[in-house]
Amino acid sequence: MNLRKAIKDFGIQSQDYTCCYCREITHSNSHKVWEVEHVLPLSDFAQFAFEPLNLAISCPDCNTAKSNKKVSNTKAKKNVPTQSAIYFIVHPHLDNYDEHIKKSGLFFYPKSKKGRKTIETCGLLRLAEKYVDWESLEEVERIEAEAKALQGNSGDQAKIKGLISDLLSLL
Ligand SMILES: [Zn+2]
Repeated sequence: MNLRKAIKDFGIQSQDYTCCYCREITHSNSHKVWEVEHVLPLSDFAQFAFEPLNLAISCPDCNTAKSNKKVSNTKAKKNVPTQSAIYFIVHPHLDNYDEHIKKSGLFFYPKSKKGRKTIETCGLLRLAEKYVDWESLEEVERIEAEAKALQGNSGDQAKIKGLISDLLSLL
């Protein structure tokens, strides 16, 4: 049995064709469009290569962006850490994505420190960069309005403003 293939098949079904980081849905069973994601990177945590808690399915773009980036200070050798707080990014199995990131179309707004770190680590702004017409004042205003609407829930205005200015600096 090909273990990698089995992990992918299981992950595609259990995550309902959804990337664990960008939440983009791809209705395909093809293994070309899915990658086995190791939350704690394989390069530093080879011992967790087949630990279900450390495994998820992601799209190739998120997987490539995340690469071997550090997502925890843990020195765990034997057991995969099961506490959400140990991870800098939104953990596919331990965290509730919606508590940390608000996804609106191709935009990702951080609702927490973890959310922001996930957006950075997985390069989630790439989707907006590709498709937004930054010359269009209307579109930029729409982004700002969406961020404003979020301020009530998140109580994290500074961070949202920071993200918007990051987005605008791409102009
Ligand atoms: Zn993705």
